[in-house]
Amino acid sequence: FDEKLPNVGTTIFSVMSQLAVEHQAVNLGQGFPDFEPPEVLRDALSRAMADRKNQYAPAIGVAALREQIALKTERLYGHKPNPDSDVTVTSGATEALFCAIAALVHAEDEVIFFDPAYDSYEPAIELQGAKSIRIPLQSPEFSIDWQRVRDAITSKTRLIIINSPHNPSGAVLSRSVLDALADIVRDTGIHILSDEVYEHIVFDGAEHQSVLRHPELAARSIVVSSFGKTFHCTGWKVGYTVAPKFLSAQIRKVHQYLTFSTFAPAQWAFAEALQNNPELYLELPTFYGKRRDYFRSLLKGSRFKLLDVRGAYFQLADYSAIKDIDDVTFSDWLVRESGVAAIPLSPFYQSPPDARLIRFCFAKSDATLIAAAERLCSL
Ligand code: PMP
Ligand code: GLN
Repeated sequence: FDEKLPNVGTTIFSVMSQLAVEHQAVNLGQGFPDFEPPEVLRDALSRAMADRKNQYAPAIGVAALREQIALKTERLYGHKPNPDSDVTVTSGATEALFCAIAALVHAEDEVIFFDPAYDSYEPAIELQGAKSIRIPLQSPEFSIDWQRVRDAITSKTRLIIINSPHNPSGAVLSRSVLDALADIVRDTGIHILSDEVYEHIVFDGAEHQSVLRHPELAARSIVVSSFGKTFHCTGWKVGYTVAPKFLSAQIRKVHQYLTFSTFAPAQWAFAEALQNNPELYLELPTFYGKRRDYFRSLLKGSRFKLLDVRGAYFQLADYSAIKDIDDVTFSDWLVRESGVAAIPLSPFYQSPPDARLIRFCFAKSDATLIAAAERLCSL
């Protein structure tokens, strides 16, 4: 049997969540909150279902939601997409990323992205018969070496994928990065796929640098976001793309035959929440900043060395003072022996460095973080 994805197994997120259940571990692995979405949002969802919003949504998304996404984008980044031609609602950011890659990347094309990377990019590229060109981020801050990007560009480069705030490192790109990127792609036909699912989770007073703040980049970029991250409801699987009309048109061709449309009642609920409760996303830096600081303070007495976190809801930890074994073996040992699930870093890499790092998700209640920290501090 000639497999299309011979190198793909079950994702590390599923593997670790399954192990967490089997071992009744505290699950700081897969990235999801262990608290509920805001009550106003849950009420809005129930109301949408009671109001008979249960049949197919328009393929491109409910108009009221696209309008709210356009308004939010303008308010935050000074770029107003046309809600009818530039905004497309998808079944999670995962679908958005897949649609963008499938719509733009031809067989034999090259797609540049960075090591470590979220795990869904590579298989989507491979399915197009295209080639992934992975450029290592620079330690210690997981920053981009722009000369390496320049050197990697060829006549076959179709797309560059960036991700800020970054999963798994929590790194956040600065404004100067947008200028560097614009310089590199000027006078080329290269598009930018900007994975901004953690756009509202940026700490220490920093601003999220959406590519949409940069008009030259906005004209050639697809921005992907996810309501799962923004409203603590990863299980609802609603995301979206913002892209100029000519790119959105291509993305919509794939979307209409992949899923056609996205869970309708949730779209109505998000439209309402964005309109009436903007504080739900505006308060996320404070909300998650406190979670970050609390988790870090709980681990002060442990032998883990914690890396800096500037955005998203992940804490990287160096465990080399505890055991000198590889990260997959360490994570397996940790969930079985200590009852804490984490995510090893090497599955995010094509060429894993010789580091001893695992990722904890701190989008958890105090009680969960305390229970995990007690176990982690005893190692
Ligand atoms: N991109 C990144 C960087 C992510 O961390 C995630 C979620 N883990 C996604 C995309 C996918 O988001 P969604 O759950 O909305 O499909
Ligand atoms: N994005 C989540 C994470 O990084 C997991 C999503 C998934 O399980 N596919 O943990």
